[in-house]
Amino acid sequence: MSVPPRPAALARCLATALALTANGASVGAQPPRYPDVLVITVDTLRPDRLGAWGHARPTSPAIDALLGEGLRFAEARTVEPLTTPALASLWTSVPPHVHGSTRNGLPIRSGLASLPRLLGRRGFRTAAVLGNWTLKDQLSGLAGEWQHYELLTSRKRWFGLFKDEARGRDLTDSVLAWLADSRTESATRPLLLWVHYVEPHAPYRLQADFAPRLGISPERATDLDRYDSEIAAVDAEVARLLAGWRERSPERPLLTVFLADHGEAFGEHGEHGHGRLVHEPTLRIPLGFHWPGRIPAGVAHDAVSTLDVAPTLLGLLGLPAHPSFAGRDLAPRFAGEPVAERPICVQAHKGAVQSVQAAARARRAGLIEAGVVAAGQLEALALGRGERRLYDLQADPDERRSLVDPKSPASESLTACLDAIRAGLTAADQVPPPALDPDSIAELRALGYLD
Ligand SMILES: [Zn+2]
Repeated sequence: MSVPPRPAALARCLATALALTANGASVGAQPPRYPDVLVITVDTLRPDRLGAWGHARPTSPAIDALLGEGLRFAEARTVEPLTTPALASLWTSVPPHVHGSTRNGLPIRSGLASLPRLLGRRGFRTAAVLGNWTLKDQLSGLAGEWQHYELLTSRKRWFGLFKDEARGRDLTDSVLAWLADSRTESATRPLLLWVHYVEPHAPYRLQADFAPRLGISPERATDLDRYDSEIAAVDAEVARLLAGWRERSPERPLLTVFLADHGEAFGEHGEHGHGRLVHEPTLRIPLGFHWPGRIPAGVAHDAVSTLDVAPTLLGLLGLPAHPSFAGRDLAPRFAGEPVAERPICVQAHKGAVQSVQAAARARRAGLIEAGVVAAGQLEALALGRGERRLYDLQADPDERRSLVDPKSPASESLTACLDAIRAGLTAADQVPPPALDPDSIAELRALGYLD
């Protein structure tokens, strides 16, 4: 038989509960001491198709305005040009061979530190609203890092076969509805919200509403025209998301990060799409941090990567660095100081993931390219042919003329990168791979992710 608590004991319990509010603010008494954090990622977005990077077409007025008011990193790169590996690296700040998701369909290893998990422990509400089916938990393993993980699948997109994508408009609607529903709780707890838009991923659709503004003739639209129109459509959704957020809580400070998971190739080096080569069209990403009154406006040219985002957010929030994070806190740049140069190790994988055996094989034998960006150069190795390429990215940004001397050995940086990847892939084999359902296998096969 239980004994009801006495009133004094009950009052003490309530006082303790209030004092234990993890963000340090008493419930209902004070606003959180941290800003809300909004991370917007856009799939397959090349920076050179944005106005902020000099594109002549007005594809991106809202994104340009956001990045123009904050600090834009003009020389940012992903560590793998593929959705799940890249975004898992964003949140865990470790490269794909460490988190284990080297390919779409290979989930991350368990037990990793991640920014949403760390901020959740600090009292943040953490929520992800995503529009790319490859991020579903069974394929990515990312849902467990978030308190709320929502994958929208509102239209048929991939080759008209699957009902597995959300339009940007649907995604924004869902985020704004979720914010409205959680308004009361948001008043007392800071929020980490991740929104992932899938446009302008292939198949590029002509967003006809934006064609006149972009000077696109619908009858003669090229792939790049359609791609630009998809960027304009997602830009409009970014504008609507930011306006909706400000309307919801105009007084709350908001720290916004904008980036892409990877870029896209339109025939460069024979690639159409992304994921099979390490080269500038797919490695380069837009990246910017926006926090009015705290981050000065400007453009940085430090060579940075996706891995640096989570440590930088911890630093901006005044929280300690996490020892497992491989990226750097870019804080010096916010104070006008250069960020120490560090080689960026990049990788590309293939692999089959439809069974336990195949997943293990995919991790172990899926590496097809590795490369290092350092000192203004990209040195890459195609493992199958054993061919190296070396480009001076300042003098030859389109990577037309390889400077490699076949008789010279690979650089120490590339050798170290390759050794680390191989060691990590072997370690990742220790992780039990997933058992995928037939639908997921069919989806992956349709996208060419299965051999
Ligand atoms: Zn992607």
